[in-house]
Amino acid sequence: MTATDYEIVLSPFVLALVGLCVGSFLNVVIHRLPLMLERGWKRDSAEMLGVEVDLGQPITLALPRSRCPSCGHQICWYENIPVASWLWLRGRCSACRAPISARYPLVELFTALLFGLVGWRVGAQPVALLWCAFAAVLIALAGIDWDTTLLPDSLTLPLLWAGLVASALGWTIALPQAVWGAVVGYLSLWTIYWVFKLATGKEGMGFGDFKLLAALGAWLGLKMILPIVLAASLIGAVVGIAMKFAASLREGRYVPFGPFLAGAGIVVMLAGQQRVLGWLGWA
Ligand SMILES: [Zn+2]
Repeated sequence: MTATDYEIVLSPFVLALVGLCVGSFLNVVIHRLPLMLERGWKRDSAEMLGVEVDLGQPITLALPRSRCPSCGHQICWYENIPVASWLWLRGRCSACRAPISARYPLVELFTALLFGLVGWRVGAQPVALLWCAFAAVLIALAGIDWDTTLLPDSLTLPLLWAGLVASALGWTIALPQAVWGAVVGYLSLWTIYWVFKLATGKEGMGFGDFKLLAALGAWLGLKMILPIVLAASLIGAVVGIAMKFAASLREGRYVPFGPFLAGAGIVVMLAGQQRVLGWLGWA
């Protein structure tokens, strides 16, 4: 393809349209991946204990077809068009009128917005697709962590490896920045975790958070680790306190750290490393 072809195919507008469809798929990932993991854990435990368990119908990202959780109505293709179907159905199931969460169209719109911004920021070149993929995995991780306080290895580890490989191929940042970003990303939260645990006996975060920050380090570089942790802690604390006051935080639950790490990573990606260092007065 020529440079002009790229300017059309990878324009912010086209990327935003792609983002709508990817966002629709991310809704499925956010909903089903935790269910698939849980099934896997049950199956493994049953095997180890040598007991029979009924796992029900198998779940994959593609099967079974999406159904209304209230009435079981199978969602057909024209009820599954990003944003448009939700608006057309006025946020209700076509069969039983049960409300459909506004989160579905919002995830689709947010993904479209991010893909468009990536296109605008990176320019019409193939590497824009790489950064769109990075953003998509972060949205999925943020959604799953928010719902379940899990950050699946099946997303964090490929994200980490992809960041290192993209850097080694010369597509993103310099390789030493990526490698040390991954190492320091993991070890910094690991250290905080153990200090906090030895001091208070509580666990402030999970191992998924270390892996996610390692992945962000591999994509964004060593210098971005501290800005990401600072921003994520600050915003996470504000949201946590607000939720405590609003009493929307369920008893015994805590606000997951992953969505804030992912959010800070997305901000750094869009702002650019130099600008972030400038904000902190470190440039
Ligand atoms: Zn229904």
